[in-house]
Amino acid sequence: MNFVTTHRGSAPLVLDSPHSGTFYPPDFGFACDLAQLRRAEDTHVDKLYSFAGELGCAWIEAHFPRSYLDANRNLTEVDPDMLSSPWPHAVELQDAAVLSKRRLGKGLIWRATDDGEPLYARQLSVQEVQQRIAHCWLPYHAAVKAAIDAAHARHGYSIHINCHSMPETAGSHATDFPGTKHPDFVLGNRDHSTSSEALLLWIQKHLAQAGYSVSLNHPYKGVELVRRYGQPAQHRHSIQIEINRALYMNEKRWRSPTALRRCAIV
Ligand SMILES: [Zn+2]
Repeated sequence: MNFVTTHRGSAPLVLDSPHSGTFYPPDFGFACDLAQLRRAEDTHVDKLYSFAGELGCAWIEAHFPRSYLDANRNLTEVDPDMLSSPWPHAVELQDAAVLSKRRLGKGLIWRATDDGEPLYARQLSVQEVQQRIAHCWLPYHAAVKAAIDAAHARHGYSIHINCHSMPETAGSHATDFPGTKHPDFVLGNRDHSTSSEALLLWIQKHLAQAGYSVSLNHPYKGVELVRRYGQPAQHRHSIQIEINRALYMNEKRWRSPTALRRCAIV
């Protein structure tokens, strides 16, 4: 199984979707309800951006689910309490945002669903987490970095859009702002540090003129993928775009087992 798909581009634009994967690996070993777990997916984001190839944009897509491994986290965001033996690598102990996500069960390897249900009825081995990193995180980041480097080499600048979707209302354990009613779009450049401000405001203006409500850097400002690759001083711009799922799907229907089966086949 290939965990990551990459389409090369010719334009300065690079798009990636780290959370729309629907292939649940046989070694996942989760103990919670699958329908509940699938609500963590950024459903259909891969389809929303299916125009990317025609525009010559590079496209990187994860096939593994974010609940198996979240590619939008640093490798230091492991929760040692989930493991059956000590983690032999560095663990982030200082960063308040990272510690907050770990408390919610939303580190590199998720401990809980957006509703706070535990994913596992067991502890994970160090080896299986290392394998997830080797099979998912490393190839995903290598693909995003290579696409951005190639775009930058061709054009002298790159624009990386990190593509996500969000539920209409934030779950109790999804963010630090549970119950938030989301706007149509949230644009994030980590408080104006991962892209030029002009680019961020241009996208905001474009969406607002189309009639959408847009928020900047709240409640989502972007995480590891824009943090790691956005270097505006080097003309490498990274912006996270969150789209409200209510704009393009019926979230309630998605929760029914019938809808789940139908979507899994598509
Ligand atoms: Zn996402």
